[in-house]
Amino acid sequence: MPDHSQNAHSAKSQTDFDVVIVGAGPGGLMAAEELAAKGYRIAVFDAMPSAGRKLLQAGRGGLNLTHSEPKADFMQRYGEASQQIALWLAQFDADDLRAWAAGLGVETFVGSSGRVYPVSMQAAPLLRHWLQRLKAAGVRFAMRHRWVGWNDDNALLFESAGEQVAVHARAVVLALGGASWPRLGSNGQWQALLESRGIQVNTFQPSNCGFNLQWSPVFQERFAGEPLKNVLFSFTDHRGQRWQKQGEAMLTQYGIEGSAVYALSAPLRDTLVANGTVTLYADLLPYKEGDELVKRLAKPHGKQSLSSHFKRCGLSALQIGLLREVLTAENLQDAQRVVNTLKHYPLHLSSPRPIEEAISTAGGIALTEMDDALMLRKLPGVFAVGEMLDWEAPTGGYLLTAVMASAKVAADGVDALLKSAQAQ
Ligand SMILES: Cc1cc2nc3c(=O)[nH]c(=O)nc-3n(C[C@H](O)[C@H](O)[C@H](O)COP(=O)(O)OP(=O)(O)OC[C@H]3O[C@@H](n4cnc5c(N)ncnc54)[C@H](O)[C@@H]3O)c2cc1C
Repeated sequence: MPDHSQNAHSAKSQTDFDVVIVGAGPGGLMAAEELAAKGYRIAVFDAMPSAGRKLLQAGRGGLNLTHSEPKADFMQRYGEASQQIALWLAQFDADDLRAWAAGLGVETFVGSSGRVYPVSMQAAPLLRHWLQRLKAAGVRFAMRHRWVGWNDDNALLFESAGEQVAVHARAVVLALGGASWPRLGSNGQWQALLESRGIQVNTFQPSNCGFNLQWSPVFQERFAGEPLKNVLFSFTDHRGQRWQKQGEAMLTQYGIEGSAVYALSAPLRDTLVANGTVTLYADLLPYKEGDELVKRLAKPHGKQSLSSHFKRCGLSALQIGLLREVLTAENLQDAQRVVNTLKHYPLHLSSPRPIEEAISTAGGIALTEMDDALMLRKLPGVFAVGEMLDWEAPTGGYLLTAVMASAKVAADGVDALLKSAQAQ
């Protein structure tokens, strides 16, 4: 791995770039790549000692780069921001992302779910090749430089090794990320800096997150860490809209997490905010008609314990544990009630898990603050991209795709701005 860290002095002596990019995540790196290719002198500043830490973390889950579903479906994954993000995806979509990865020597494949991953299922080779290519294109990196605002001269101010460094540029791209997993660099502290310039930053909220719910101590001890496979989750949100997702989840000490829950996390969270409570229902027997099971369960079981009887009827220890959480001893004798409960198991969620644990964040700079080129209307010459803007999407590669698409849009915007300034 090449050393991506450079000392503060290189930044201090290099205060004259065409474009300064703040944030060396996928958004910042993509903006740097696009602008370097257009011939601009680019510097990327980041508070952390090395670039792309969250991208590397995403690689631990196989690095789901994008999704292969039809464009029309893809566009709908961004909820209320879908219309705006469709404009970004018109510039750079899932096919472009796969072609871009291939250009870095990273071949991709479509998994059975339609998600797209690098063949290696790792982020490190992709990041390594990417940084090498950026450096070869002349992009300068100044790591361990935390952006702390502007000076009176409107230069960007960074803190590095206990000193302040002022950096001038003709244009700026902010790519500072959201507020989840702050130890990887994106901690959302930039919020106050932009608000001090009158920019609306909507409150950060966890997205693609787990939820708290109260299990009994006995259940926690026995079943925390157990997966729930092939479950059909459903619920009705505070607006009356019905949601459904089939897939996997994981039972935890504090409640529940996992891909199917993440997929529903935005409407679950919003319903919790609106109503203070939400019940997610799990069909634990999604492929089975219950009638046959009712007949089996209703048969006399003599001296056999209820648990043994349930197991002989095909129920797992986890399903029996779940039943014991919500049914009294008397109700457990009622075969119809047992099956109804397994088909419609109530999970009373009390709150989302903290933002620090979430895969991504909702909230950030209000999209109304941006023009179509992703320049902040109140700060001409300053563009913002990626997860620091207020949009969210489920896991599935939709996050990285939109982050990179936004960077492409902003890079084109910077180019147009600098060209028009030159022409005057
Ligand atoms: C565990 C996990 C798994 C994930 N898996 C996937 C996945 O498989 N597929 C997918 O599409 N998405 C995934 N994501 C989400 C994806 O990684 C993010 O959406 C993406 O990294 C956001 O890119 P970004 O460039 O906007 O911000 P970031 O990647 O967060 O980069 C922001 C950069 O800005 C820097 N920075 C912040 N503040 C300052 C400051 N004041 N001064 C200087 N620098 C600063 C940070 O150090 C950081 O390097 C995952 C996220 C997590 C946490």
